[in-house]
Amino acid sequence: MSKNYLNFINGEWVSARTNKTFEVINPATREVVGTVPLGGKEDAQDAIEAAKKAFPEWSALSPFKRARYLNGIYQKMVSRKEELAQLITAENGKPLEEAIGEVLYAASFVQWYAEEAKRVYGDTLPSSSGRKRLLTIKQPVGVVGAITPWNFPSAMITRKIAPALAAGCTVVIKPAEQTPLSAVAIFKIFEEVSLPRGVANLVCGDPIEVGTELSTHINVSKVTFTGSTEVGKIIYRNASDTVKRISLELGGHAPFIVFEDANLKSAAKALLSNKYMNAGQTCICTNRVYVQESVIDEFTKIFINEMQKLSVGYGIDEGVNVGPLIDMQAIEKVAKHVDDAVSKGATLMIGGKQLTEGNLKRGFFYSPTLLTNTTEDMLVNREETFGPVTSFMSFKTEEEVLSRANNTSFGLAAYFFTNDVNRVTRISESLEYGIIGINDSQPSVAEAPFGGFKQSGLEKEGGYQGLEAFLETKYLSMRLS
Ligand code: ADP
Repeated sequence: MSKNYLNFINGEWVSARTNKTFEVINPATREVVGTVPLGGKEDAQDAIEAAKKAFPEWSALSPFKRARYLNGIYQKMVSRKEELAQLITAENGKPLEEAIGEVLYAASFVQWYAEEAKRVYGDTLPSSSGRKRLLTIKQPVGVVGAITPWNFPSAMITRKIAPALAAGCTVVIKPAEQTPLSAVAIFKIFEEVSLPRGVANLVCGDPIEVGTELSTHINVSKVTFTGSTEVGKIIYRNASDTVKRISLELGGHAPFIVFEDANLKSAAKALLSNKYMNAGQTCICTNRVYVQESVIDEFTKIFINEMQKLSVGYGIDEGVNVGPLIDMQAIEKVAKHVDDAVSKGATLMIGGKQLTEGNLKRGFFYSPTLLTNTTEDMLVNREETFGPVTSFMSFKTEEEVLSRANNTSFGLAAYFFTNDVNRVTRISESLEYGIIGINDSQPSVAEAPFGGFKQSGLEKEGGYQGLEAFLETKYLSMRLS
């Protein structure tokens, strides 16, 4: 059942100025699930103008009142979790249960920032002069342009919009062209809670036209982006001309280190849930597994046993825990990484092929794959695979594995498993990554800062830090007479 959807600009549901549209495809079946406006430069400009007009009133509103809107949005998202999850599964492919988890995760950011809105504190500063009083206050940065990816169609939107609205900013969002339907559904909720017109605007459309406008327009004060490192660098450059504030959540290349004293069974289970969530299409999913030499055979056996529990299929079918990849390009990239590894001497233990049997032949399915005996010169250990492929390497010493784990320009998430408290401290402090999972492979929560070191990004999302990213600090110096 394909439906036509619209953009939301200045409180109205509108077509693109050109009336052009594009189709959204279900990656499990290649069926069209919806048609959305192909917005362009002018649509983006209309949305920016609406956001600019709405800013003075929204930013002046008491944070307690802004929190009330956010709480209303949170309640509706939770009560409609099934319906929102169905849309995620239809446009992204992930299993329904995982999609429900995403909606609740998405809603948790709205709830968290409803609370944080009330805690935007300034400082009073002791002055070197007895005749002066020094203060700081925090103010919203202004109009925010937000650009989001397809792998978390709901959560990547609320993780940006909720703190922006809480801070008093107004926003224009461009969702990924593969998954705009979840964005439309969230905007329907914004309309239902009577968010004032122009405060949040949705422009589905051409990635380059809309994305360029959002990252260059003089009236956009801040750009917040989640996506590939390649596009992130373009946006960073675009934003420099007008010195915009910028937040970037880019790619990762997460190491997962298993020390010989770890609980191997729980490490294997943790690896499985981390790696095969969203069919390996998350920026914090494991890319390189390092297992200490003395336990690698045992760990491999336990992990293979865990992998037998995976069931690939349509996300709406019961019992499925691995859905399709997003498109054919994704399949080709995964296949290229696997072929490259095998040609350089890796052992293919499980999987390693596109799945085309039965009803899977219509979608973009790739079998959960395990490669062992891989080396660091292989693509799978250097580039983001963004697919269901696990790569095992062995190591001897702590010093060696640290140097190998850090030898990358990525720095988003890293995981390690050990029961030695001294080692926990040493490794946590030495890994050059923004997020460290210690015997934990699911670290993302609304109350903690998410963000990368090195070329994995700038600024944080989540936690009180996620609100700071939408605030300017203003310093007030008052001289007494
Ligand atoms: P992925 O590789 O995961 O699809 P992208 O970085 O290509 O990630 O896409 C993330 C977001 O960036 C999407 O909303 C996409 O439409 C948008 N985008 C793609 N190209 C550009 C561009 N040149 N300028 C701004 N946004 C872009």
